[in-house]
Order: sequence, then C-alpha cells, then structure tokens
Amino acid sequence: MNLYHSTRSRAISRTSKEAIREGLAPDGGLYVCDALGSEKLEVADLAEQSYHDIARTVLQLLLPDYTANEIAACVREAYDGTFTSSEVTPLLPLWTVPNGMTKGTGVGRNEAHECDSFAPVSVLELFHGPTSAFKDVALQMLPRLMARANSGAAPASGSGAASTAERVMIVTATSGDTGKAALAGFADASGCGITVFYPEGKVSRVQELQMTTQAGSNVNVCAVRGNFDDAQSAVKRIFADRALAERLSNAGWTLSSANSINVGRLVPQVVYYFAAYAQLLRAGAIEAGDEVEFCVPTGNFGDVLAGYYAKLLGLPVAKLIVASDANNVLFDFLTTGVYDRNRPFFTTTSPSMDILISSNLERMLYYLSDGNCELVALLMQSLSETGRYEVPKDLLARIQEVFACAWASEDEVAAAIHACWESHGYLMDPHTACGYHALEQVAPAPGSHARVLLSTASPYKFPRAVAEAIGIDVPEDDFACMDVLAEATGTTPPAQLASLQEAPVLHNDVVDIDGMAGFVEQAALKL
Ligand SMILES: *Cc1c(COP(=O)(O)O)cnc(C)c1O
Repeated sequence: MNLYHSTRSRAISRTSKEAIREGLAPDGGLYVCDALGSEKLEVADLAEQSYHDIARTVLQLLLPDYTANEIAACVREAYDGTFTSSEVTPLLPLWTVPNGMTKGTGVGRNEAHECDSFAPVSVLELFHGPTSAFKDVALQMLPRLMARANSGAAPASGSGAASTAERVMIVTATSGDTGKAALAGFADASGCGITVFYPEGKVSRVQELQMTTQAGSNVNVCAVRGNFDDAQSAVKRIFADRALAERLSNAGWTLSSANSINVGRLVPQVVYYFAAYAQLLRAGAIEAGDEVEFCVPTGNFGDVLAGYYAKLLGLPVAKLIVASDANNVLFDFLTTGVYDRNRPFFTTTSPSMDILISSNLERMLYYLSDGNCELVALLMQSLSETGRYEVPKDLLARIQEVFACAWASEDEVAAAIHACWESHGYLMDPHTACGYHALEQVAPAPGSHARVLLSTASPYKFPRAVAEAIGIDVPEDDFACMDVLAEATGTTPPAQLASLQEAPVLHNDVVDIDGMAGFVEQAALKL
C-alpha cells in the first residue's frame, strides 16, 4: 500500500494517508504514485454516473488505502449540500447571442438551461462551492481525507512520518482564493488548526474580507509584507525547519499543507474532468471515446495537472491548454523548455495566477520523464539556486505533445471579458478570461470534438475588474460594484459574497516574511 514516494527520490515510500498527512516529502519533493495510469477508468458508462459516483471511483483508485466506506463518507460530507449546483461542477454551453436579442435575458444568461445540443465551447463552472472559487472542490474534501488519515494511519516508525497522536496545523500561503477555501474547509475541524498567510495589498478587497472575517476556534489569518512567491517559499522553509518541528512536536503538533502540493488536494480535482466528459456525453455533444480539449487558467499548475492525471487514467484528452496571465513564466517554459523565474512580477486582476514558481510542474516533469527522480532533483536544485532550469529537448517535445499554452495581458483579459459578454451574454471573472483568450489564440487540436473552458471563480469575486471590462461606471466601493454589476447584467451575486460587507473583521495581524515561522509557532501554542 506504500504507493507514494517523492518526485526527487524513491528512498522512502508512503501510503496515501501518510502522504496526505505530511503534505510535502522530507526531501522537498512532491508525492507521486507510479501506479497512476496502470488502471484505466471506463468512459463508456460515464454518462450514467453522478458526480458522487465518479468521485468515489477516482478517489478509490488513487487513494487505495482508504476503505470504500471512508471514501463514500468523505464524498458525501464534501459535496452533499455544500455546492449550490446538483452537478457540483455544471457545464454550460457558450451560445452565440443572436443579433438584436437582449443579453442577460434567456439565451446566454449565467444559468444552466435545458438543451439538446452543445456549442463547441462550453464552460465548466467550478465555483459553486462555499467560497465561490474552484479551490472549494478540493478543499471541501481535504479535511475529510485528513481526518481519516489521522485516525487510521499507523505511525511509520523511523521513517520521519509524524506520529498519529498529534494534532495537525495546516499552514498555507495563498495568492487569494486558497486561503478562504482552506479556512472554510478546516474551520473547527477536529484535531486540526489552520494558519493562512496572504500577501498584503495583493488580493482583492472581497478576497481579503473573506479571510479576515473567518470565524472558528482553530483559525489564524495573517497578512505578509511580500508577494505570494515570497510567502510560499517561506512556508516551504517552515516545513523544512527541523528545530521548529521538534518544538511543535513537543507541544503535540505536526505541520501539514493545504496547498495544491498535497495529494489530497490534487486527487479531488481529477474528478471534474471526468464529470465534464459525462455531461458532454449526456448532452449528446460527443460519443464515448471522442477526444476533448480542456483550457485551464493556471497558476501553481495544480488544476491543469489534475487534467493530465485524468488523461493518464484514460480520459480522451486531445490537448490541455495552459492559460496564464501577464506572469507568463509557464508560457515561456512550454514554448522554449527554459523555466526562468528571474523576471518582473506583475500584480494583475487575476491574483490567483500571479505566480512565478509553479510548484506542481515538478509532478508533470516526473511523469513525462518516465519517473526520472535524478533529473527532477537536479532541475529543482537548479531552480532553488539560480531561479532557472532547462529541460532536455526530447522531454520538451513530449511535454508539448500534451500541453499547449497561451497568455493574456491585462488589456487582453479585459477585452476577453467584454467580448464574451457581447458575443455570448456570459459573464466571466478575470482568471477564466485568461482561458477564454487562450482558446482564441490556440487553434483546436486535430481530432478534438469539444473544447471545455474551466471557470475558476465567480465574476463577483472580482466585481471591479469585471464591471470595468464590460464598460460599466464603477463606484469606489467593491460591494457597490457588485450591485451595479448585478443591475447591469441581470445576474445575481452569490449570497456568501454579498453578506461579507456586514461581517465583523476578526483578524488583522501583519508580519514580515521573517516573522511567519514565529506566527505559526505562537498560533499553535495558544490553541
Ligand atoms: C488557484 C486559482 C487558479 C490557479 O489554479 P492552480 O491550480 O494554481 O493552477 C486559477 N483561478 C482561480 C480563481 C484560482 O483561485
């Protein structure tokens, strides 16, 4: 059952429960499983399966040391009544608005509607969870998986894995959305504490309020003077800090991660690729076996990596299109084979994609190099020492067979929001708009029968950028922005966002990068 090992070495192995508990491997690598892809999922009968059915199958395949009962309970707890759509992640066709038809009334409205044929491009809405961002799909699941990992796993004696009597402190750096989704998942979860760091002044007002108003006895939220990459690097150092680990262990705590480096975050995301395919089958848009393209707004490479996992599990994926914003380090890498983080950092209207170190790329490099741990370790060492690495030409060629790429400047993001609203009467957020622009840049892959754009956030999480893009006069205040946006487009803001305005702010700490470790320690000791 010890299926998982680090991307950088096979020296130590872990069960999936241990991998989920630990988050990051002791050598700094990410946990991967060589069995991935040896067993395929049958796509022929996907059409008859619900989201819950698919989730149980995918989770059982990738997390085999969980019992069927544990998996079923996790799926129920994560997705029963927490998402506002019965499909969990509904798929909507992008219809063309006929000339003369008013947008926001009937065709093209931001609501699922009955249809018997699909336009070639559809949007997979991943944002119907409690915090209106796609990260809910995984972060409603992770705490359930973590709880079972804590109670069920035997201590891996002498292997460095934490003993199971300890409580787990989740430590997360967020570029905006992870923080709130993790807080919502872990608040008051038994045996867990959660500490979230976000870059001060670099998330939207709505995102910041979502975090600073979070209630819960085990919840800690802190702004950091620095950008997301600085904060994420500091969190990695906190995990690697042996002395801190020892002090925390003496107080009954072990640290773990809710970032998308955690296997328990990644695996639930594989599910919606299959669920999208199931919905296309049910709509008669494709036949079983037809290839489909997915376009994915990307930051840490977690979401699109889950699409690659789905492909390895047998989903007919023609191409995965990696969409970036002005921080286009992935575009350059996928085009040239050179990954170079030594470049200006841009703060954009899509903050959750403002990332220069895409952690999950490491897993893709592992799989596409046929599990070459030595190569991955060398590349990652180069990245940490020089901020740069280059992959061999043959590896780049294999990567390019699977992944296409494009990026959108700030002007192009605004133009995409505007164009999509004008042509389809569909309102999208700036992250999703990077994907919309990418779909226009990348020609359909030969043999592809449908294109699916993953929509990662509600437009109401970024009401100012969205309202400006479609040409509405915007008021000073973000919440007034929501109101004018709703009025002008005939769409409705999610209730949990509209009500933030009245919620009391409970957290107002700010630290320097150097102060983050101390903040975590104090947070644990006071719980
Ligand atoms: C996190 C996030 C992304 C990027 O996802 P990755 O898994 O980091 O690639 C895109 N859009 C939104 C709204 C997000 O919150």
